[in-house]
Amino acid sequence: MTPPRTAAFTVLYTAAVFIGRMDLIGGTELGLIWPAAGVGAVWLLAQRHVRSRWLDVSVLAAITLTGNLVTGADLPLSAALTAANVAQLLVFLAVFTRSCPQVWNAPGWGAFERVQHLWGLLAAALAGAGVGAFISLAALEASDGPASAVSAAVWLTRNGVSILVITALGLRLGRLSERRPGVLTRPAVARQAVRERLSHTPDRRIAEFCALVAASAAAYIATFWILRDLPLTFLLMSMTVWTAVRFGATFTALHALITGTAAVAFTAYGGGPFAAIGSPTTRVLVAQVFVGMVAVIGLALALGRDERETLFRQRAAAEQELGAQAGMLAAIVEAMHDGLVVVDADGRVVMSNPAARRLLGAGATPLTSVPVSFEAYRLLHPDGTPLSERRQPHMLALSGHEVRDMDVLACPLDGRQEHLLSVSATRLPAHDRAVVVVFHDVTAERRQRDELTAFAGIVAHDLRNPLSTVSAWAQLLTDALDAGPAGEATGELADGIARIQRAAAQMQELIDDLLAHATARDAPLALEPVALESAVRQVAAARGDLPHGPGPVFDIGPLDAVRADAALLRQLLDNLVGNAIKYTAPDQRPRITVTSALERPGWVRVEIADRGIGIPPGRHQMIFENFRRAHTGGPYTGSGLGLAICKRIVERHGGTIRAEDNPGGGSRFIFTLPAAGAPAPDRTGESARATTQDSRPRTSRRAGDT
Ligand code: ADP
Repeated sequence: MTPPRTAAFTVLYTAAVFIGRMDLIGGTELGLIWPAAGVGAVWLLAQRHVRSRWLDVSVLAAITLTGNLVTGADLPLSAALTAANVAQLLVFLAVFTRSCPQVWNAPGWGAFERVQHLWGLLAAALAGAGVGAFISLAALEASDGPASAVSAAVWLTRNGVSILVITALGLRLGRLSERRPGVLTRPAVARQAVRERLSHTPDRRIAEFCALVAASAAAYIATFWILRDLPLTFLLMSMTVWTAVRFGATFTALHALITGTAAVAFTAYGGGPFAAIGSPTTRVLVAQVFVGMVAVIGLALALGRDERETLFRQRAAAEQELGAQAGMLAAIVEAMHDGLVVVDADGRVVMSNPAARRLLGAGATPLTSVPVSFEAYRLLHPDGTPLSERRQPHMLALSGHEVRDMDVLACPLDGRQEHLLSVSATRLPAHDRAVVVVFHDVTAERRQRDELTAFAGIVAHDLRNPLSTVSAWAQLLTDALDAGPAGEATGELADGIARIQRAAAQMQELIDDLLAHATARDAPLALEPVALESAVRQVAAARGDLPHGPGPVFDIGPLDAVRADAALLRQLLDNLVGNAIKYTAPDQRPRITVTSALERPGWVRVEIADRGIGIPPGRHQMIFENFRRAHTGGPYTGSGLGLAICKRIVERHGGTIRAEDNPGGGSRFIFTLPAAGAPAPDRTGESARATTQDSRPRTSRRAGDT
């Protein structure tokens, strides 16, 4: 419970009940106006989320009962009228819950700000007043004899209008006080708020407001008093319309309350256009209907205007935001170092950035100029051979291919320098008939890489000779020692030589791996149909003899033929089979199963599974990176390059490779390769390079070469 709020509404409601009971029409129990209906509705709405809201209902009922008793109604009638009032409010709330759920469910007062809310409020007010009218009329009949239909209509209109006007105003003011606490209860805050408002309001608007207040007063005084015999109600309507279209919903509700009260009061005392109606009850009824109409029209106009203004404001804010975002995007695209071109379905360039114009030369257009054809750029294979139209990056993207890091050579027609570009192209999600093509200049990078690769190749090649010499001399020394007499010094010497031999073997392996790595990455592919099964059997036979312990057991299923580079495929198989043997515990016999299946049309899926020591959890991906190992220390030595080589080989064939745990123990490596019958892939799948390497060492990594 919020005691101050309950106390404030107790005072307000008591006053409303006594005002309502002040004047009786034609000796009946019905008052002219019943502000208590509206005040009660606002009270219970304000307390709707409070746990002790039933206490508020009880206090409200007690005030209604006391008010009726004190102002002359007998106990049964007072009780019946109290029941009618309470039922009226409860029905109002029940309907309002459904007709205005956004306002009802909102914390605090809720935002009564849409025309739809007005219709919800009207429906709830009429439903509540209807139930109240039914109960009160039954009670009046029981006490005074038959009640007229007009009395029922008076209750319905009087209470319905009271709930509508006062609740609309109450909700708006409640919201205001939420935004500016104390504005309704503390005069200093209210004064400050008015001062601030005035300081931000142009003089013209203040003048208009004063004019409206004066004109409203004049119109009501003229219609209901000075020129009471003339039918001037249209003047009053124009005041409401003026208020609504210029001053918003809160002031319109206040205006309707003040002018409505004035209209009913004037009519009750025989003034104004409705005074000619003979029966005082009917006269007041007509005045109430008039007030209700004025309030509904005014509020509908004002809320509609507020809604429109909010929408305009939101749209303007959204447009500004969009404009700012578009500006920022344009600035980013302009400043990008990578070239960016948007091409439509007809191959026309609809947008390009300065980097694209710099890299591609003639043909590229600024952001705003007339589109030119993408064909105007000269894009070739990196080795300088022409790139067919079908294989242009934008055409591949348009036909649904994902183009990633495709190497092309850009030869601008205007004679500018050639660039080696890495191109990616994607269909734009919102316009699937347009693609965005991004060009990354890799000229310097590739030159450096080529130089480095050549250097590594030379170094590795040149290191092999002295290393072979070291190995050969170490072997000779071992033989000489074996031939001579054994002694303590001989044993130490033999141990030292064995270490030299092991170190030389490790170095040999590393050099071989480095050379193989360069080959796997750079050597051009010679694709041909390869009988996978016989390739695996050859590798298995070569790997079959182990220096120590029993040889591995192979289970090679019938395997599908693939389309691959035979030498690289052999290297791939040898690395995987070698690892399967190497990563088996020394006292275990390696067991390797090789199977294949058709993965999807045109692709073969190969699986090499072992029963070895397995891969530690979480390391299944990183082992494919250069120099990364999952088993360090212990008896398993290696360079960490083998799987990186495998990955490179598989990817150059357009396939994928991954490692998994083998159910039941060990690991399995699964990779895909094009099927033998598949059409020859385009060169986009590989990085076709201008420079070709002819040194392709046929070396393989040997299991357990330590
Ligand atoms: P290495 O020269 O160390 O063998 P690889 O690149 O061939 O390098 O393998 C990377 C790492 O992956 C290895 O160090 C090892 O930890 C793990 N690995 C590779 N194959 C297997 C396998 N069949 N079983 C268990 N672990 C493996």
